[in-house]
Amino acid sequence: MTTALEEPNVAISDDVLTRSERPLISVVIPLYNEEESIPHLCSALTAALQRYGKPYEIIVVDDGSKDRSFELLAEQTQRDRHLIVIQLRRNFGQTAAFAAGFNNARGDVVITMDADLQNDPDDIPLLMEKIDEGYDIVSGWRKDRQDRFLDRRLPSMIANRLISNVTDVRLHDYGCSLKAYRRDVLQHVRLYGELHRFIPALASQVGGTVTEVPVNHRARQYGRSKYGISRAVRVALDLITVWFLGGYSTRPIHVFGTLGLISAAGGFVIGLYLTFLKLGLGQSIGTRPMLQLAVLLVVIGVQLITMGLLGEMMTRTYFESQDKPIYVVRQVISNSDAQES
Ligand code: UDP
Ligand code: MG
Repeated sequence: MTTALEEPNVAISDDVLTRSERPLISVVIPLYNEEESIPHLCSALTAALQRYGKPYEIIVVDDGSKDRSFELLAEQTQRDRHLIVIQLRRNFGQTAAFAAGFNNARGDVVITMDADLQNDPDDIPLLMEKIDEGYDIVSGWRKDRQDRFLDRRLPSMIANRLISNVTDVRLHDYGCSLKAYRRDVLQHVRLYGELHRFIPALASQVGGTVTEVPVNHRARQYGRSKYGISRAVRVALDLITVWFLGGYSTRPIHVFGTLGLISAAGGFVIGLYLTFLKLGLGQSIGTRPMLQLAVLLVVIGVQLITMGLLGEMMTRTYFESQDKPIYVVRQVISNSDAQES
């Protein structure tokens, strides 16, 4: 039975699906214009998952492909009851495609990978081994990465260093799509923009434990990469977002206020010095650039502190309007049968 899913952000109800057992593993694959890869992807993935032997589902999110990808996928669903295809109405980007997949995944473990066969489905047991050890997030590390050096591996090396330092979640390869997550951790992670690259850091911010394992990587066989070097700028900007929201979303005044105080204090000290020159030594200060600097620093300082206060108010609106707690509970235990002490 083919199921046409009109609204991908509404979870698929179980009776729509023809499967009886709840999967342990949900493989989520965002896909955009990858028609040549689809048959190979499906067969390689199915072979690997069958070998692994645990119940699974494969969720392919067609991110508004303009080639024959969706038709090919629809055909595959006729042959494979493990396959679920979610078609987005237009190209929303890889992050949104991931989010659509996550929202519909039912397995305890969600495994993500690319549709372009660059990842090796036979690495899935390696990731699962680490999940079984108790980690919440296992990131693939393309140790022997098969991409060009100058425009792909080098920027990626710099980005990984930067992201690791800023977020304190040290991974060699944030960019690798082959990753495994425990779904209960993932459900606390909200994705926007292109934040899929930061999921391990975001998941760690809600208390998930992170590790990595070396995985295979192959050169792209069909189609072209969907990204150019311009993503470096977006990664840098996203890093600022992740850093700020991770550490300061409940206390923005600490960032803006600190900068504001430093700036205002600098302006104040310079101002005092100029006052001394004017009143103490009788010098003229009206034409000195330092005077402008002092004024500028004080004004910027006041503005930053005000921005911090506005941030504090927005934080309250954000959390209280949605009844959002500022913490994430792992579990609550108690025992009503226990003896009174
Ligand atoms: N992708 C997507 N939507 C987009 C861009 C990419 O679903 O708007 C998918 C793409 O089909 C692939 C994965 O995301 O499965 C990663 O893209 P790509 O291989 O082009 O990135 P790279 O490996 O070059 O970083
Ligand atoms: Mg790729």
